[in-house]
Amino acid sequence: MKNTTHAAENFLTGTPLTIDIKSSFEQAQELFSLAGEELLVLTDGAAFKGVLRRRVLEEAMRFGLKLDLADLLEKIPAGEDFVREALKNPFSAYVLLKKDSAKSLITLKDAFAFAWEDLSENFSLEFPEELSEICTKASEAAKALGLRVFLVGGIVRDLILKRPSFDIDLVVTEKARYFAENLAQKLGARLVKTSLFGTFKLAWRDYDIDIAQARWEYYEAPARLPKTFPGPLRQDAFRRDFTINSLFLCLKTRRLIDYYGGLKDLCAKKLRVLHILSFVEDPTRIFRAARYATRFNFAFSSDTFRALSLALKLKVLSLLSSARLRNEFLRIMEEENPSLAIIFLAENRVLNELFEKVPDKFEIKRFFALATKMRLSPAEKIEAFALFLALREKDLERLDISGHKKKALWQAKLSLKEKAAFLKDPKIPLSEKVFFLEKMPREALLAASFLDEAFILKCLKCFEIKPGLSGEDLQKLGVKQGPEIGKMLKALRAAKIDGTIKPGEEEAFLRKEFADVFSS
Ligand code: ATP
Repeated sequence: MKNTTHAAENFLTGTPLTIDIKSSFEQAQELFSLAGEELLVLTDGAAFKGVLRRRVLEEAMRFGLKLDLADLLEKIPAGEDFVREALKNPFSAYVLLKKDSAKSLITLKDAFAFAWEDLSENFSLEFPEELSEICTKASEAAKALGLRVFLVGGIVRDLILKRPSFDIDLVVTEKARYFAENLAQKLGARLVKTSLFGTFKLAWRDYDIDIAQARWEYYEAPARLPKTFPGPLRQDAFRRDFTINSLFLCLKTRRLIDYYGGLKDLCAKKLRVLHILSFVEDPTRIFRAARYATRFNFAFSSDTFRALSLALKLKVLSLLSSARLRNEFLRIMEEENPSLAIIFLAENRVLNELFEKVPDKFEIKRFFALATKMRLSPAEKIEAFALFLALREKDLERLDISGHKKKALWQAKLSLKEKAAFLKDPKIPLSEKVFFLEKMPREALLAASFLDEAFILKCLKCFEIKPGLSGEDLQKLGVKQGPEIGKMLKALRAAKIDGTIKPGEEEAFLRKEFADVFSS
């Protein structure tokens, strides 16, 4: 049964969870508990000593045995053919050694996650030319450094769904920095950013390439940022938001690695959390869920609904900082059709957790249709939306609007409300309303739901109307420098807005309306 596809090298899965052999039982137990693994690699310095089984440790602790971790270590038989070893191996695990240190701890879970058949037989994944070039260069860089590289997350999902994507996430089994530098050099790309989490960002043509080492993480409390550590691929899959975003594509073998049934969910159009506390540990995933469900027209799995109910019941959204919340709204506003995700959040009672009064779906649709016609930027849409929902000035802070901006928006909302009768009065010339409205931030106009859409759009066009003559032109006509010039220009503009003069009639209009100025 010597088969190269079974060779352990093909299952290189990233840094194993490791503990020093001199650690205490309690330290080992804590690591087991935080990571949810069943096996840890025991090391002495960098040298591999054996593995520790969770059940064994817990039994030793239950029995109150006065022993060291070294007493509990067990050996795993080594061999070249992983599958054969795994079948014989009572631990169902295999350690890949390099020199005498452990490069990977491969479990049966890994073996099941690696696609056995060649993907291209079942899916014609079409790599656009530039993406192919990135993948080829990434493979070369990985080979040069003796590591493995995988496409992961959204790009794999979008390749399978045949949707274009310019955000590429690459995961490497080790040495992320060297890999990033090597790839940047091969592509002639810029290394634009490094982060505290040891991730790197390259910019190449239209592509953003994020590079990270596979890692595991745990949360100390709901809605906190996680603690992260280098880890194996199966942990890196588990820390993700949904099964459809947890797929890896190995660039060496071009095979899919699917730990949590992401492929099946993609085909079934299902959005499934990795575990039931997913939204509790990271409530931003709720907003991500709204985006994916509406962008792809995917349904929540029943567990995802249960996870959402749990998170809402535990009120974890209140623990999210306003900056993080704003970031999620920003990403929603960047969607092609943000109203769908917002309606989804409203109908699933998520918005109620954040704002006292939530508009119905018709109001939300009207709001976004107008926002699109007004060509508001995603950031302006957030501000308009926050103002639309806010009952008090303080409510704006929930979406991280503060300081001068908060005051200006709130003041605009109050002024608009005060002037509602004036704005709706058909007897008042349009120009007067335009002069009032153009002093307001554009976002505030959108939030004034008593104004009808056609009126707002008409006013926006009027904001662009010019008087037709300049101050200099007026001086050439003999008007002296002074406050009269300003008044005349304003009158000209009003006349244009109200449609009482046509182009070319400016001078005649001024000579009639401001006869005294011309005669003095
Ligand atoms: P989009 O098309 O919306 O950009 P994406 O999948 O590329 O989707 P990113 O925000 O770029 O989304 O994240 C990349 C990957 O990182 C995701 O596919 C997911 O695997 C993981 N991820 C991002 N945010 C989270 C989160 N809050 N919790 C868990 N995993 C996350």
